[in-house]
Amino acid sequence: MADCIFCTIGRGDGQATYVHKDDQVVAIEDLRPAAPVHVLVIPRQHIETVRELEDQALLGRLFEVANQVADQKGIAKDGYRLIFNVGPHGGQTVYHVHLHLLGGRFMSWPPG
Ligand code: 5GP
Ligand code: ZN
Repeated sequence: MADCIFCTIGRGDGQATYVHKDDQVVAIEDLRPAAPVHVLVIPRQHIETVRELEDQALLGRLFEVANQVADQKGIAKDGYRLIFNVGPHGGQTVYHVHLHLLGGRFMSWPPG
């Protein structure tokens, strides 16, 4: 989708700090980090929400990349959180599916 910010970033055209790139997936630093580590793992393909993500291998790949980035960032031992926000009540603001990797501090529960 031409006017989708994460499609643009997926093509390598957007302003983003990339921490991972492969043929299917990119991972970038979040523009407004909610934690010391806040990375978004994004498929290059435009898919609106995780509900439309039918390719199970691609879904698995998003988690695999998130775990690899957690290793790279040195937060694997202390732990971290992986989140898909879905729809308005889920807090989704960008309708191109992305997996949040949050860490580097204790995450309280329940979330707000
Ligand atoms: P959502 O609320 O849809 O789950 O998450 C969207 C996330 O994307 C937010 O954490 C927001 O800070 C981040 N974001 C929105 N636009 C941009 C952008 O242009 N670049 C980057 N790096 N992050 C963005
Ligand atoms: Zn898109």
